Amino acid sequence: MSTRSIIARQVGDGWTGRYHHSDGYPTGVGNALLAHIRGHFAGDVRAAMAYLIDQHPAGWQSIVGANLRLAPGFGGGFRFNVHRPQCYCHGDRDEEEDTRTQDNLSQYWDIDFLYVIAEDSRMLTAFALDHDWGDDPINDTPLATTLRFLRQIDIRTNDTFTEGKQ
Ligand SMILES: [Zn+2]
Repeated sequence: MSTRSIIARQVGDGWTGRYHHSDGYPTGVGNALLAHIRGHFAGDVRAAMAYLIDQHPAGWQSIVGANLRLAPGFGGGFRFNVHRPQCYCHGDRDEEEDTRTQDNLSQYWDIDFLYVIAEDSRMLTAFALDHDWGDDPINDTPLATTLRFLRQIDIRTNDTFTEGKQ
C-alpha cells in the first residue's frame, strides 16, 4: 500500500531524512522502525540511523517486514512476505540522493507521515502531514502543508503504535 512517509534524523531544531514508499502509517513504518532499532540494531540508534539515512541516500521502497540480515537492494528475495530491505540505491535500482528536510514541507504533497528520531534522547516522534488543498479541484500542490503531532515513543521502552491510539 502506498502510504508514503519520511524517516528522519533530528538535527538541531529540524530534521533530515529519506522517503519511504509503502505502509507509512504508524502501525506500519512506525512499528517497523521500533522493531528494527530494538531488534536488529539492539537499541543502537546511531547505527540504525546511519543505515536508514546515510547508507541508502535514495530512500526506501519498504523496510516493513524486511529481514535486515539480508543485503539491502531493490527487487528479489521475496519469500512468504519476508524480504530484504528494498531501497532505491542498490540492487535493481541506482537512483540519486533524495534528501527530505523541514525546509521543503510544502513540496511533500504525497507524504502522509513523518518519523523523527533523536539519537541523543532515543525518542521517536510521529507526525501526520496535513495538506490544505483549498477549494480549487485543479490545484496540483497544496496551499499549505502542516505537521500534526501524533505521538512520541521512547525507543528504550517496549511501547508500540496501536490502531486508534496514534
Ligand atoms: Zn540502497
